[in-house]
Amino acid sequence: MKLNQLICKAASVYPDGFVLEYWDMGKECPRENPEGGDTLAQFIARELADTYDSKADDRMQVETAVRAMESAAENIKDVAIALEDVMDELSPDARPWICPECGFSMRRTYESLAGNGGPICPKCDCDMKLEEQSCVKKS
Ligand SMILES: [Zn+2]
Repeated sequence: MKLNQLICKAASVYPDGFVLEYWDMGKECPRENPEGGDTLAQFIARELADTYDSKADDRMQVETAVRAMESAAENIKDVAIALEDVMDELSPDARPWICPECGFSMRRTYESLAGNGGPICPKCDCDMKLEEQSCVKKS
């Protein structure tokens, strides 16, 4: 499979096909585009090129590309969750939630729960429980 085919497939679903703004079809490699203004499109073009193995068979090439994009999506999702945590931590209405499996904890407001449902542990992928509010006096 040609690298250009992978890039075209990626561009076909990317907003305005912008991945192509960072791709040289003739040389079949990423190109600089300082005016582009879309670093995610640039990342996709570079990452697909970086992980591409011209000697691998078609199936392996596609699998590698899929893995690279899924891994990046996962990392971006983790960053979004972490930033959402910061936002919730800032709220005085936030309640502590804890993962029954690993003990990971986070604070969430009812507002964010209404939009997203109960929090899911980013480590174990299981439902988190509202931590009991204890009335024990601190000494
Ligand atoms: Zn957990």
